[in-house]
This record gives sequence, structure tokens and C-alpha cells, in this order.
Amino acid sequence: MNQADSEIVTALLRAEGFVPSADETNADIVLLNSCAVRENAEERLGNILTHLKGRKRRCKELVIGVLGCVPQFERERVFSDYPFVDFIVGPDNYRELAGLVAGLREAVARPALLDYDQTETYAGIEPVRAGSISAFLPVMRGCNNHCAFCVVPVTRGRERSVGFERVVAEVAALEKAGFREVTLLGQNVNSWRDAEKELDFAGLLEGVSLAVPSMRIRFTTSHPKDISEALVKVITARPNLCNHIHLPVQSGSSRMLDLMKRGHTREEYLDRIAMIRSYIPEVAITTDLIAGFCTETEKDHRETLSLMEAVGYDTAFMFHYSVRPGTWAARNLPDDVPDTVKKARLQEIIELQNAMSREIFRREIGKTVEVLAEAESKRSESMLMGRTPENRAVVFSRGGFNPGDTLLVKITGATSATLSGEAV
Ligand code: SAM
Ligand code: SF4
Repeated sequence: MNQADSEIVTALLRAEGFVPSADETNADIVLLNSCAVRENAEERLGNILTHLKGRKRRCKELVIGVLGCVPQFERERVFSDYPFVDFIVGPDNYRELAGLVAGLREAVARPALLDYDQTETYAGIEPVRAGSISAFLPVMRGCNNHCAFCVVPVTRGRERSVGFERVVAEVAALEKAGFREVTLLGQNVNSWRDAEKELDFAGLLEGVSLAVPSMRIRFTTSHPKDISEALVKVITARPNLCNHIHLPVQSGSSRMLDLMKRGHTREEYLDRIAMIRSYIPEVAITTDLIAGFCTETEKDHRETLSLMEAVGYDTAFMFHYSVRPGTWAARNLPDDVPDTVKKARLQEIIELQNAMSREIFRREIGKTVEVLAEAESKRSESMLMGRTPENRAVVFSRGGFNPGDTLLVKITGATSATLSGEAV
């Protein structure tokens, strides 16, 4: 989401005559688009800012702005912690950014644009995209859920969706511009709605897939409680909708899920997985997991491990819990799992996931899979990197193929993260 936002910010600034610098050390203005979702993302922001402090000391003219979720949530604290930061701008205020920078010299105080705008979707802004094959397209912003651990509703406000016609027009424009794949983005993408057209996310997926039949379509992130049978049926019916669902579970313990306010139990989650697999047996399912949430016991943790085994996730994003000020958990629950225990549990989760990924990937050896080539491999010009519809990375000897081509690859090798093979 932040990459997509940075692409919007680049477009807004370019339209006002600002030019992106290829080399950060030459830039007159440095903008950091920040993430507040976990403590270590915030720490990384702090490390980069500390590094920039030296540059600012040597060059007083350098302008430093912090954008995104950290200032939205920490507000003026960013100024007090980092006195050399010139301005802060929250996720709903990027349209005013160019004007703010242009007026900086006359500004009497350091500007802070942190108003929520419940209608802002940046629809109509054509992002300056980083790549030319696969594009991110935010179709909704904000989140109406209140997961106890999560700061997103505080930083990004209430849910709002981009209208159906607009999304379809934007994917059509991407196809025309040569993109081969689009990922529809939202914090809770499957609660997308177009009230006027009485369409839900299944309707959007169908419409998009029909509008651009030559493109691959992905979406993330789906909330387990909003995965409908209608949505899964659309995926089976439309060949360009990828066989991959990212379905964060966070914990395998119903007690934890209740404390986390996720809106479903372990059993309900497993029922959803069974429903998905009954329609799409070959689907790849990935997830997010949190180790060591408030009051988590060894028994709860074991339930997470057993749920992972029951589902057989392709891959997972795995984190240890960090308290986020302003959240329900920060106000109401004790952060009582010691750090060492959180980290040990996370390590166990990671090891189990790696072993399962290795096995799932190993089972692909000998198969011929469809791959969209994305780029040259980092290791060699004679190799390309691409992805299967299940979102598995494949490195293969390129033959006569180029990034942007869709081709068949015979899989000859696998690690826990990558498949390798030969173009057929
Ligand atoms: N909306 C998505 C959902 O509900 O599944 C997830 C969005 S959240 C930005 C991405 C992931 O960060 C979450 O799924 C969760 O695993 C993790 N996360 C969020 N808050 C966290 C916290 N306080 N500590 C550790 N991990 C956290
Ligand atoms: Fe955060 Fe929950 Fe919303 Fe996901 S659904 S963004 S975890 S509040």
C-alpha cells in the first residue's frame, strides 16, 4: 500500500514540476513514506532519519518531509523526536503536498497536514509506477475493522472504495500501457463496495477480469470473515483471476482470535479454507501470523502451529507482537508475553513454515507451470524471474523470452522460497 501511495505522491509532485532524483544524495528534498503497523517499521524510519540528520547539518537547504502513517498517528511527536524534519503529511493529504513544499520558505511554523478525509481515494491520479509489467491499484482505502493489535484504523481512517467504473477504466488504461498484471489493493479488499451499483468485491473482480482478459489479476489483503462463496466462484470461473488468496489468520487459537477481535474462530477460519479448496483444489493460500499477542499461552501457540499444519500455507508473513499506542490492546490488555518467549515462538513458527514451504515447492518439481516473466534474474542476464498464478517465484533459463512474456516452464528444482526450471 505504501509503494502504491509513493507512486501517487510521485505523480502529484511531477505534475507540479518536481523531478525525481535517481540518486538520493543529490536530492534537494527527501520524502520518507512511513509505516506504523509494527514497531520495527517505525524503528527503521528512525534509523534513516538519524542518517539524514548528518546530511542536513552539512546542507541547511536540504528539505526533509515525513509522510504516511507514522506522523498521522504520532502527530507532532515526529517534530519533537526529530527536530530537523521540515514537515509532516498524513495519508489523506498528499494532494496538498506540492503546495506545502512550494510555500516552505514563507512558512512561519513547520507544517503538519494531518486531517482525515473520509472521501479521499486519489481516484483520477495516474500513479508514476515503479515497474512496467505488474502494477498495484488501490481500490479502497482505510479499514472499518477494529482488530485489537492494529493501528491501521487510526492511521488510515474509515473505509472508502473507488467506484466500479473508475476501477475498470484504470485497469483498461494499464492494459493499454502494456502492463500484464494488476494487484487490486485494500487493507480489507474484499469488503470493497460500490453502493450505487450494488456491487460487492466478487462483482468487481468479475467486471475487472472481463474488462482486461489478457491481464493477470491479483488482490490483497482479504479478511477471512469477508471471503464469500460468490467471490471464490468468480475465481474459478475466470481464468485470468490468479489462484492465490492471502488470508491472514494471525493466530490458531479461538481464545486469541476473540481477544484480537478478528470476528471469527479457528473453526470458522478452517471452514472457509475448506470452502475455498472445495472450489479451487490447487489454490495457494498464504497468511499473516502474530506470535506472542497479549496473554498468549504455550497452548495457544501450539494451536497456531497445528492450524498452520492443517491449512498448509504456501508462505506466510510472520511477526512477533509489538504494542501499538492508540490500539484497543494497548489500552486494555497486558503485553505480558516476555520478549524472549515472543521471539522463540516466532522462530518456531518460521521454522515450521519454511519446512512446509519447502515441501509444497518440492512437490512442484516435474510439473510444467505457467509463468509471467517479470525481470532478469539478479544473478544472471541469461535467467529470468517470474511468477506462477499461485504467486510462486520461478527462476529459469530465459531461452528467447523477455520480461512481460507469459510462458510455460518445466520445474526442475525448488527451495523453500523459489522454484527453478527451463522455459518450454
Ligand atoms: N488488513 C489485513 C488483515 O486484516 O489481514 C492486514 C493488514 S496489517 C497492515 C498487516 C499485518 O501486520 C497484519 O495481518 C498483522 O499480522 C501484522 N500486524 C499488525 N499489527 C501488528 C502488531 N501490533 N504487532 C505485530 N504484527 C502486527
Ligand atoms: Fe488492521 Fe484488522 Fe483492519 Fe487488517 S482488518 S487493517 S488487521 S484493523
